[in-house]
Amino acid sequence: MDLPIVYHSDYVAPLPEGHRFPMPKFRMLYEMLMAEGVINSDQVHTPERPPQEWIELVHTPDYVQAYCQGTLDPKSQRRIGLPWSPALVNRTCVAVGGTILTAKLALQYGLACNTAGGTHHAFPEYGSGFCIFNDLAIAASLLLQKNLVQNILIVDLDVHQGDGTAYIFQNEPRVFTFSMHCEVNFPGTKQQSDLDVPLPEGMEDDDYLQTLAAYLPDLLSQVRPDLVLYDAGVDPHVGDRLGKLALTDTGLFRREMQVLGTCLSQGYPVACVIGGGYADDLKSLVYRHSLVHRAASNVYRQVG
Ligand SMILES: [Zn+2]
Repeated sequence: MDLPIVYHSDYVAPLPEGHRFPMPKFRMLYEMLMAEGVINSDQVHTPERPPQEWIELVHTPDYVQAYCQGTLDPKSQRRIGLPWSPALVNRTCVAVGGTILTAKLALQYGLACNTAGGTHHAFPEYGSGFCIFNDLAIAASLLLQKNLVQNILIVDLDVHQGDGTAYIFQNEPRVFTFSMHCEVNFPGTKQQSDLDVPLPEGMEDDDYLQTLAAYLPDLLSQVRPDLVLYDAGVDPHVGDRLGKLALTDTGLFRREMQVLGTCLSQGYPVACVIGGGYADDLKSLVYRHSLVHRAASNVYRQVG
């Protein structure tokens, strides 16, 4: 069995030309992974749109309904930062289904990667920062509800704090939230994760990787999770428009090898989502997102 990869063509929703959130990156990522032989079609799993009840494990029925029907008030809509359309509603829900499927595949095979996901700024009653529904929180809540796991560790290395996820699970002892992010970046008001590691602006590869190494192994022995949900946001990259850290491509690849190697070698299953990444040069951005899949393929071969 090859490393399970989760993708749906509906991950791409049309947005107005020049919108700062580049939707084509999801298809380009899939195409790059296929074209370069990192993955083949046999290992691709296609998610379904989840029932609304699953989304309501985390989000209030009022919010879910208003968003899905396009009746959200303009202020809440602006806070999301993406123009509403039925295609975006479907895309949003399918991507949540993708992270749920990735988490289930990770439990079955030890490692699995979504080609979307990581919408960690979504709160129960509202969306924020390009995030509408919190896929990480919904997947975690569903697996707990179905008794598929007893506890979960969320490792959020997107450069922005996983504030929605931290808030959602603040009183849930079965989910440990770990966020390592740039301290002077969005969101302006931080929430309290179970462990926050704020990083100074401009941090480079070696300092970043040493900081991660100082926390992750201990965290795994402390939490002993049944599943790790890994948000592999690539916005800590030096070329990212919204990042403020200074990692290189090599640094990001080393990060993915470090996270996946540390978890897998100790027997902890990992479900990966791609998280944030913002750059005008889409091809470079897509390459950065592909690093987690490349690292996962390596690690999966070594361990499997
Ligand atoms: Zn981010």
